[in-house]
Amino acid sequence: MKSSFCRICKSSDLEEVMCFEKAPRNIERLLESGQLSRDKAVELHVYQCRMCDHVQLLDQLEDEYYEEYLMSHSHAKKMKEFQLQQASAFLQHFGLKDAAVFEAGCGDGQFSLTLKGQGCHVLANEPSAKARAACKEKGLNTVGGYLGTGVFPSLNESFDAVVARQVLEHVPDPNDFVVGIKEILKPAGVGLIEVPSLEQAIENDRFFDFFPDHLSYFSSAVLTRLFSCNGFDVVQVKRVMDGEYNEVWVKKKSQPNLLNIQQAANNIAGAFRDFLGKESKVGRKVAIWGAGAKGVLTLSMVDTRSVSYLIDLDPVKKDRYTPVSHLQVSAPDRLLTEPVDSVIITALAYKDEIMRDLKAKYSFKGKIFYLAGGQIKEC
Ligand SMILES: [Zn+2]
Repeated sequence: MKSSFCRICKSSDLEEVMCFEKAPRNIERLLESGQLSRDKAVELHVYQCRMCDHVQLLDQLEDEYYEEYLMSHSHAKKMKEFQLQQASAFLQHFGLKDAAVFEAGCGDGQFSLTLKGQGCHVLANEPSAKARAACKEKGLNTVGGYLGTGVFPSLNESFDAVVARQVLEHVPDPNDFVVGIKEILKPAGVGLIEVPSLEQAIENDRFFDFFPDHLSYFSSAVLTRLFSCNGFDVVQVKRVMDGEYNEVWVKKKSQPNLLNIQQAANNIAGAFRDFLGKESKVGRKVAIWGAGAKGVLTLSMVDTRSVSYLIDLDPVKKDRYTPVSHLQVSAPDRLLTEPVDSVIITALAYKDEIMRDLKAKYSFKGKIFYLAGGQIKEC
């Protein structure tokens, strides 16, 4: 099965950039003698998305692909030293002590053990039952399944950090995986993600870096964008292990709270009513300055019956009416012939200039207010 859309941005504007006639179906599994007669080469087609630059295969892996997976690159001394240094630097940078860490696709569990050795409480996630059993033998807490949106609801906001090393390049839906990371992280939780470096392949003509198991080939730029677009700040991205891998540190962003804006909109009618009520009770007249977008919208939400008049400097607006509130726009010199006691400025970008003009050009001696979210405040 082949998709015709980019794995990341869903564009169909894809260009085939490489085609190998013969490649092994599965790079990680070496065969038993009895399997040889059924073994056949496959064609490998590599595409690049013209919209987001992502280099990828369009093939879909069968669901059970990684159930039997058992790989280990952790035996080499160089790899062990690298992992120890990588874990220490990450934990130290983010001040993680006794941290709850989820490692997605932990393989043989070597990195999880390294984290555990540094005081972390690790949940080692691995879809392969064989690999999971090996992790359990090493004393790790394990969980099966593929990380993604809504996969581990009981683990929502449970972890200080998520680690995924050499995993994302295998994942069919990278956006879904990243959202899965976000879900299980606590607010401001952090992540360490490591993938093979596309730059390394490009710089060294490494055709042998492309094979059917790897669905995605991440450049630093695409990796950065993937996380930025899914609710993370990218803290650092760098080439590691002699340039072989791109390693990125990310931090979960807090969602901007738009509820407060809704609350301000709900409050504005009451704020105007109270303000105008108080002013008229003591016989003070009120004008509004500003028939621009902000003013027009605000006036449409409030009761303007006790507003004396609306002024704006723009001669094009003079004598026209505001939609919904139906206030006629006057030129500012009306302040001279028909003085008011208070002015509310809604043209916020020009607030300082309007304040100066009120005093200098129109000899205004009253009080000046402005629109501050859902409130009216004195300047
Ligand atoms: Zn794309």
